[in-house]
Amino acid sequence: MISSQGITANIESSLIGRLSFSAVPSNQKAKTIIVNPILRKSEWKSYQSVLLSNRGDFDKSRDMGVSAIYLDADISALSEGDIVEIQPDGRLSVLYQITSRHNVIFATSKCNSNCIMCPQPVDNSEGSLTDRNLEIISLMDKCTDEIAITGGEPTIIGKDLFRLILACKKLLPSTSLLLLSNARKFSDFEYTHFFSSLQHPNLILGTSLYGDNDTEHDRIVGSDGAFHETVKGILNLGTFRNRVEIRTVIHKYTYQRLTRIAEFIYRNMTFVSHIAFMGLEIMGAAKQNLESLWVEPTDIRTDLENAVHYLNQRDMNVSIYNIPLCLLPHTLWKYARQSISDWKNSFALSCHSCSVKGNCSGLFNSGLELYSAYLKPI
Ligand code: SF4
Repeated sequence: MISSQGITANIESSLIGRLSFSAVPSNQKAKTIIVNPILRKSEWKSYQSVLLSNRGDFDKSRDMGVSAIYLDADISALSEGDIVEIQPDGRLSVLYQITSRHNVIFATSKCNSNCIMCPQPVDNSEGSLTDRNLEIISLMDKCTDEIAITGGEPTIIGKDLFRLILACKKLLPSTSLLLLSNARKFSDFEYTHFFSSLQHPNLILGTSLYGDNDTEHDRIVGSDGAFHETVKGILNLGTFRNRVEIRTVIHKYTYQRLTRIAEFIYRNMTFVSHIAFMGLEIMGAAKQNLESLWVEPTDIRTDLENAVHYLNQRDMNVSIYNIPLCLLPHTLWKYARQSISDWKNSFALSCHSCSVKGNCSGLFNSGLELYSAYLKPI
């Protein structure tokens, strides 16, 4: 998420609005933050807020009682249609970028698991974000290609998750949804039935499996019984013909069992739409536990190759996420995707001379320092 620090005037509580660089119809002004407007100053007040790069204009807006933020920063990364939140203390956060394919609805920080490599800090005391998220959805561009609903664990918010999905279905009818969930809640047949009855036309549920048995999986997700709930959840989702993607993060506790996991998926869940083996994002718990999770990038190659080929030979749709091409054997390149969200994505200086950079995932910003020494420009 892009954020910036500015100074505000006449903003008493946080506000969320859509950016516009030119005048909008009257019925949209209340939810529009107009950027450096070329309008009579008397018209500024009719907008939700005004974003200004000129200090003199900002001082005038303050005197006129106009809600405004002044940013003494390059705003060229902001686009017409972006959605931002402005806090009274001057913090501006971009919640949605119209040019990005990696926008998310952050459903909650709460979670019922405690994964050893979770990049996202869990906050089980957080209040509801649903009304805020519904507001963000209502401001998103109708032509948005895809949105991920993520957390925390989105099913923790119960039926509010259904409200989010229904809002997307109604307001963003051509937008595909990726719901990232540990799928434990879907072990409840009635919940899965209700979820399926929402009939979103283009939703895929992305879930995680970290072992082919409860001992391995439950240890990694830090919760007894999680494996059985997730497996039952995936099977229930399949019963109602939902599309399911299974993701496995590769680290010290999983890399030697990748083929076993692949076999388990093939034998028990042949209906899944996609399987992704993923490189580690070194944030949050993964950063804290890095010493125990770390495996040399070269050490995972054989196991990853075996698992990917096992699935591919059985016509399962398999990909590799978040691993640069130069860390993979050439036989796996065709499975590697440019999967890292643009706002988390970096390349090392040495990548600039690499002939395959245009097809490479690069690295998470958080892993740049650690992995740079392993990169070998091609
Ligand atoms: S050197 Fe950089 S661009 Fe080239 S394959 Fe490696 S990570 Fe990708």
